Amino acid sequence: MNSVQIQCTRCKTMFRDRAGRLQDGYSRQCPCCEVVLFFADDAQHPFIKRAMRSARQVRKELRAAEAARLAAPQEERAAPRSRSSISRARVQGRTE
Ligand SMILES: [Zn+2]
Repeated sequence: MNSVQIQCTRCKTMFRDRAGRLQDGYSRQCPCCEVVLFFADDAQHPFIKRAMRSARQVRKELRAAEAARLAAPQEERAAPRSRSSISRARVQGRTE
């Protein structure tokens, strides 16, 4: 999943956009009421803040997954044991 949920600040419609695009300075139109939403790191609106925060989180997870994939030795990638250790690490990360 590399898209994040965005809520329109005007009509409250929920829609999705790619996390890679949702960065400081990005703007896009609501598909419903066509208001232009501006995304900035210092945005004050809670809907925008939430979208920016989830986009950052998704990009971080994508980078971590990519780094893990590149770092993992060939034989460990296929082993089911390594998959369970990855999901354990993910659970620990969430509880912090
Ligand atoms: Zn709208």
